[in-house]
Amino acid sequence: MRKFAENTLVIASHNAGKVREIQALLSDYAVNVISAAELNLVEPEETEDTFVGNATLKALYTARATNLPALADDSGLSVDALGGRPGVHTAPYAEREPGVRDFAYGMAKLETEMQGHTNRAAQFNCVLALAWPDAHVEVVTGQVAGTLRFPPSGDQGFGFDPVFVPDGHDMTFGNMDPDKKHAMSHRAVAFAKLVKACFETSFHES
Ligand code: IMP
Repeated sequence: MRKFAENTLVIASHNAGKVREIQALLSDYAVNVISAAELNLVEPEETEDTFVGNATLKALYTARATNLPALADDSGLSVDALGGRPGVHTAPYAEREPGVRDFAYGMAKLETEMQGHTNRAAQFNCVLALAWPDAHVEVVTGQVAGTLRFPPSGDQGFGFDPVFVPDGHDMTFGNMDPDKKHAMSHRAVAFAKLVKACFETSFHES
């Protein structure tokens, strides 16, 4: 796998919650992190039907547009009783109207869909794609298993965190201290793989 040897990394996301988490996960490393939103980049349309496809598309688009290495995250919540939905379509699932994301609305919709289902198992999935301006891409994946719990609880984190209880814990991600979530989340699992593969020998601990 290619090592990351540059000083600056663009986070190819306009999702403030994701950018915050990725910045926290990178905080031990001396790398200058900027977000696509800070650079006023438009967000490419997520036209693929897999996490890998969309993460790759977003990372490549941003690396080309900025001429800098770019890290993209494509993630979502897959619910067993719903055949894996909303999955790769988790972001639009929470849209009250086209383009208007409302997670309270998304969680209420999920609660309605889950009525009558006894199987509450779900997983958060994350794919991270690191792309360079020459179109080289490295991809890693992470997953955390858990169960859905309603009503939503907690105001930490973002997205569907208030309804997700990770296995082995008795609180939702929404109630969990962010450091604790960052140590076990789907994003943290993927991130650990990325650091090991691409960053470990090239980053200097700050
Ligand atoms: P996308 O990767 O931009 O397509 O959006 C993924 C969506 O999945 C987000 O908008 C959230 O709704 C949800 N999601 C992904 N990761 C998390 C997480 O760590 N906590 C809660 N929701 C998440």
